[in-house]
Amino acid sequence: MENKIVIITGAALGLGYAAAEELASKKAKLALVDYNEKALAEAEEKLKEQFSGVEILKISADVSKEDQVKAYVDKTVEKYGRIDAFYNNAGIEGKQALMADYDMNVFKTVIDINLMGVYYGMRYVLPVMKKQGYGRIVNVASVGGIRGVMNQSPYVASKHAVSGMTKNAALEYGQFGILTNAIAPGAILTPMVAGSFKQVNPNDPKAAETEYASRNPTRALGDPKDVAKVVSFFLSEDNGYVNGQVVAIDGGESNMY
Ligand code: NAD
Repeated sequence: MENKIVIITGAALGLGYAAAEELASKKAKLALVDYNEKALAEAEEKLKEQFSGVEILKISADVSKEDQVKAYVDKTVEKYGRIDAFYNNAGIEGKQALMADYDMNVFKTVIDINLMGVYYGMRYVLPVMKKQGYGRIVNVASVGGIRGVMNQSPYVASKHAVSGMTKNAALEYGQFGILTNAIAPGAILTPMVAGSFKQVNPNDPKAAETEYASRNPTRALGDPKDVAKVVSFFLSEDNGYVNGQVVAIDGGESNMY
């Protein structure tokens, strides 16, 4: 990844931040996008401390707003001249509830960020990569993009959409040297998943975490660093022929019956 230009959305925390660390360690040049400006500034600071000389373009943007997505793509091209790789990662879980009881405003927000945000990202990044005749994209789906997940209807709807759009981008843009894949993480211990355990058991989130981990074939939750290594491969030239796949990173849990 040395000198490759990589955009990461949702880069301030969790999976996005772990990928930023992994790619900085490989000397990629980063455009880091997030709507949490404070966390983004802290992320930049930590990366600069850890990896001296790392090049970072920090962009505050909400991926559910089309004009802000266009702006983060334009700013990246303005600074670096190209986009080699795109980690289309920002997303939210929403509030857990039965389908018919789901709060409509939260439902729409989840769709706006997880589905439209991922689409807008590809809408503006794909033409840049097409012109270059080269690009690598990783969209972040979820096990909820290949299976149902109790009480998370908009999340599951949005993540199935991400899996579908990944397959279409792969079909349509493979001819231009662009390989598009998705990852489907299971439970990886990030701030989002910690929040999810709080929703499941507000009085004892740690108990919910332990119970969840006990059902995984590995008896553990995932580490964001493990996800980052897989993502780094799919964002690199080392991936020469995998296109349109939705790769589970879940300790094998999605194969269980
Ligand atoms: P997280 O909440 O820990 O971090 C998400 C980051 O994205 C935050 O920095 C947040 O500010 C940013 N973000 C959210 N909405 C945004 C928006 N509209 N515009 C810009 N930035 C925004 O979450 P995470 O666990 O790191 O999740 C990252 C992605 O991985 C999400 O798409 C999530 O659905 C997916 N995912 C995570 C897991 C897991 O186990 N952690 C499992 C499956 C899928």
